[in-house]
Amino acid sequence: MAEIILQQVSKVYPGGVQAVSNLDLAVADREFVVLVGPSGCGKSTTLRLIAGLEELSSGTIEFAGRQVNTLPPRDRDVAMVFQNYALYPHMTVYRNLAFGLLMRRQHAGWDYPWWWLLASAKYAQARAERHEVDRQVREVAEKLGISELLKRRPGALSGGQQQRVALGRALVRRPNVFLMDEPLSNLDAQMRVEMRAELKRLHRQFPITTIYVTHDQEEAMTLGQRVVVQRAGVVQQIGTPEDIYHQPLNRFVAGFFGSPAMNFLEGRLAKSGVEWTLVGDAYRWPISDSTAALLRHHADAPFLLGIRPEALMIDNAANRETARTETPGFLKGEVELIERLGERIDVHLVTGAGQRLICRAPGQSTVLEGENVTLAVDLRRIHYFDQQNEQKRITNGV
Ligand code: ADP
Repeated sequence: MAEIILQQVSKVYPGGVQAVSNLDLAVADREFVVLVGPSGCGKSTTLRLIAGLEELSSGTIEFAGRQVNTLPPRDRDVAMVFQNYALYPHMTVYRNLAFGLLMRRQHAGWDYPWWWLLASAKYAQARAERHEVDRQVREVAEKLGISELLKRRPGALSGGQQQRVALGRALVRRPNVFLMDEPLSNLDAQMRVEMRAELKRLHRQFPITTIYVTHDQEEAMTLGQRVVVQRAGVVQQIGTPEDIYHQPLNRFVAGFFGSPAMNFLEGRLAKSGVEWTLVGDAYRWPISDSTAALLRHHADAPFLLGIRPEALMIDNAANRETARTETPGFLKGEVELIERLGERIDVHLVTGAGQRLICRAPGQSTVLEGENVTLAVDLRRIHYFDQQNEQKRITNGV
């Protein structure tokens, strides 16, 4: 079991690409942490640095209080699972699972001739060790539901089955640390969702410290106990999925999580009499003095309003009851396009000022393309972002 601590970790590749910049991260023993961000943001490099497959340019990495950054990969006791499974094609599933264990045991090798084993004083020991390997392989195969595949070779397995074997091979070793690099991205959508749930169950059964890399925000949110959001080698936010979704630290994080993505509108403050209002090209909404004071303090220029699709609701007769929020603002728009997703629809709208927005509505909603609608906005769920200052979030609500 291992706590992992990265301090000021940086990696510059030959040629000058700064793949990771001053990364600080503490992963608790048994924690499941996901590194997520767009392609090229440095996720795989971070994982490879932890595994020992790349050398650090600066910084330190510790496992359970012991500095490991100069140790070769085999001395770090990590197991890695990759996107391409990397199974041995000429070995059966059984041997693929047993291989790592056999390599570590001196006497249990399958490859010794039987007469050597019989003649050797180590015979009893070798037999006991083989027994133990056999027990571990079968136990993990059972847990992963691949017991009936043990005699097959990887070429005769589906993608999902191969991925299970790859996971099994890593699990039987009971490593200190589990590192996974996009392990589900070769699977079809349905299998990905199934394997996601399976990974969660497995982590409960084998609570090994895990760092998991993905570019998929949904995978990150569903799998990670905590999520590390990276962009261009720089950490943007570290937090629980709830933190990241509801309290994004900047516009990048806000826009990266959630599908459909958060809507952004430009806004500024205006005073009418003694009251402050939020004003944009297509709206004028009330705002409390305290929020207005914060916005005035942080943003001289117009700021950005971030509104998630679920905080917008079409305010027609059918929705009237649900659309009534305690603190509504209204916005007019024309329905440009409707995406039907069964239990819900995603409605793409254009405001009179030409801004594009997406909102969600129930699947049975009667709204039509081309229709002019009023949107009720739950103002408590608005986020405000500074247009300067790395587009940091200033506050939320009204
Ligand atoms: P991600 O996993 O987030 O897609 P990577 O860690 O693979 O990102 O890459 C981060 C950056 O480092 C990218 O700009 C990539 O082109 C660069 N990079 C990755 N591996 C190498 C390498 N071996 N040599 C030079 N540059 C590399």
